[in-house]
Amino acid sequence: MDAPATTLTDTFGRRHDYLRISLTERCNMRCTYCMPEEGIPLRPREQFMRQQEVLAIAEVFTGLGVRKVRLTGGEPLVRNDAEAIVRGLARLPVELAITTNGVLVDRFIPAFHAAGLRKVNVSLDSLRPERVAAITRRDHYQQVMGNIELLHREGFDLKVNVVLLRGVNDDEIGDFVQWGADHGVPVRFIEFMPFDGNRWNMERTVPQAEVLRKLRERFGEDALQTVPGEAHDTARHYRLRGATATFGIIASVSNPFCDTCNRLRLTADGKLKNCLFAGAETDLLTAHRRGEDIAPLILRSVLHKARRRGGMEDLEQLSDPAQHGANRAMVAIGG
Ligand code: SAM
Ligand code: SF4
Repeated sequence: MDAPATTLTDTFGRRHDYLRISLTERCNMRCTYCMPEEGIPLRPREQFMRQQEVLAIAEVFTGLGVRKVRLTGGEPLVRNDAEAIVRGLARLPVELAITTNGVLVDRFIPAFHAAGLRKVNVSLDSLRPERVAAITRRDHYQQVMGNIELLHREGFDLKVNVVLLRGVNDDEIGDFVQWGADHGVPVRFIEFMPFDGNRWNMERTVPQAEVLRKLRERFGEDALQTVPGEAHDTARHYRLRGATATFGIIASVSNPFCDTCNRLRLTADGKLKNCLFAGAETDLLTAHRRGEDIAPLILRSVLHKARRRGGMEDLEQLSDPAQHGANRAMVAIGG
């Protein structure tokens, strides 16, 4: 079906052309803010999208105007067929991107090059190996840092994602900005967000205003320049005066960017979420397996998209475990 690009427009006039596909709920790390301590229940393989199903469902989205696909998870690169999926998606008319914890990236460099996948976001929450081990409950710092350097040398459009947690890594905000400026790598600070089982509370979130205040204290009142972003950016961008690399803040909690949202999410078990925070899901995989046309389901889901954070309009609602706890754990959504 070749529908016009405007089809995935919601009742607030937001046009959706960006799909994040979670390839798996599995992960080779156990980040405290993402994976509940007890893990998530393992489910039978047949409940998850197979390679051909990922590609077929993605193709329906491109028919509806999606032009960018980002692979995520869980850790997308732990899937045996991750390379084949990247190759298959490269045949669709989309810009490909990936968010990864970086552990396995070195094995995929040729595949990324061959697929024209240029945009790689790597998560790294501290520049101190022992802290990374405590946050991720795994000891992969050297491997991840080595792969960040490799991606940079290979010329990828690289970003480093840092989830800020009060009392854990918020004393490294200035160090990260300095590291990014020294190495020419954009760093993005992400406010800690509430999901099922991640023991969120507002006191543990480091809001955008505080990040900026800390940076002005360290580098001086006039040291930060604001940098204009692109239309659907989730981050607000800055740079240290004199540096080439920018840094960004993703303030989903304190200053959300819902008004310009253009993204949809497909979970590894084939459910469409029209917002990261939406409790409601649309089961595309079951319909696809029954041979049904899933395009009307996608269109209906987009039409029901809430104005802001899955219907949690204000911080009070977002902070309520009865509301954000109705969502999945982040590892099972695909951040
Ligand atoms: N495993 C890959 C990774 O870690 O980059 C991809 C999946 S991970 C769920 C995607 C992004 O979500 C990562 O940058 C991670 O740091 C972020 N994330 C996970 N839980 C979060 C939370 N509670 N609040 C904010 N960001 C979170
Ligand atoms: Fe795994 Fe990424 Fe979640 Fe960490 S943030 S547990 S690496 S999916």
